[in-house]
Amino acid sequence: MPDHPQLEGAPGPSHSGTREPKSDTQLAPGLYLVATPIGNLGDITLRALDVLRNVDRIACEDTRQTQKLLNHFQIAKPTVSYHQHNEHTRATELIEDLKSGKAIALVSDAGTPAINDPGSWLVREAIAAGVPVIPIPGANAAISALVASGLPTEDFHFLGFLPEKSGARRTWLEELAAREQADPRSTPRTLIFYEAPHRILETLADIEELWGSTLLAVVARELTKMHEEFVRGTVAEVRQELAARDRIRGEITLLVEAPTPAKSSGTALGTESARETIVARVARLQSESGIDEKEALKRLARELGRSKSDLYRELQRERARKR
Ligand code: SAM
Repeated sequence: MPDHPQLEGAPGPSHSGTREPKSDTQLAPGLYLVATPIGNLGDITLRALDVLRNVDRIACEDTRQTQKLLNHFQIAKPTVSYHQHNEHTRATELIEDLKSGKAIALVSDAGTPAINDPGSWLVREAIAAGVPVIPIPGANAAISALVASGLPTEDFHFLGFLPEKSGARRTWLEELAAREQADPRSTPRTLIFYEAPHRILETLADIEELWGSTLLAVVARELTKMHEEFVRGTVAEVRQELAARDRIRGEITLLVEAPTPAKSSGTALGTESARETIVARVARLQSESGIDEKEALKRLARELGRSKSDLYRELQRERARKR
């Protein structure tokens, strides 16, 4: 159990943990990319605190969220918002400040800036303007999940969020698997995704159907927080364990063993004929029950727990691939 207050929920006033004395370090000008905790405030680094105390201002994904962190560590510093909607305009203003010799920190709501969070645009602009860019390493959900997952760490592929819509996600998963399988590497690889709790079951079901049920998977939930949990097993086992719960909450990082041709046989990826699963199943239902395609799709959608429109799109994609 974490022994430091967490980012969510107000930290208790009596906490006497990781507060640092004030420092008057003169910081060199530049853009400081400061990693902040992903849940447990004890994960802030001494260097991060020192930089946050001594920059001229802090660009934040959400100023209110960062203010909680700054209050906890008694840091009084001007903040400015820097998020996906004002990234480009704000970057111009920040670069002007940086060129005039200011030290500016960039933080996201949690974890490492520019990793599935705003930042990469500003970094490129700063480099183009000849401004030093200084990383201040710290918490990151993907790496924290990977190192404790038990899956291979020698070779991994971080992919961020999967597409939200089922059809797009399935196409994306198929394309990803095709790329993974075409890669003639010899070491096993771990794929790392960020996923929302309300989509994790659908995503695991898609992976199971498209890539096979025997691949190893890990759901790393609520890392560094009170209810930190790792659900490990095959894709099927992990899905079943989570499906048995009333509700899945919290932040999730999903890790899956990269599909190989051997592990994907018999799945939609495994063979050309298996890839026609929906086409074949619809055709079989039609001939067995004497129903039309629309009715067959409806029954199959019910059977698979998927929407009819989603299944219809997949049917079309399969047919398009055949042409
Ligand atoms: N920049 C952040 C980092 O360095 O990890 C990631 C930001 S991304 C917008 C947020 C996603 O990261 C969450 O939706 C979740 O998938 C994952 N994540 C963040 N904190 C997590 C945690 N404590 N446990 C598990 N996954 C987490």
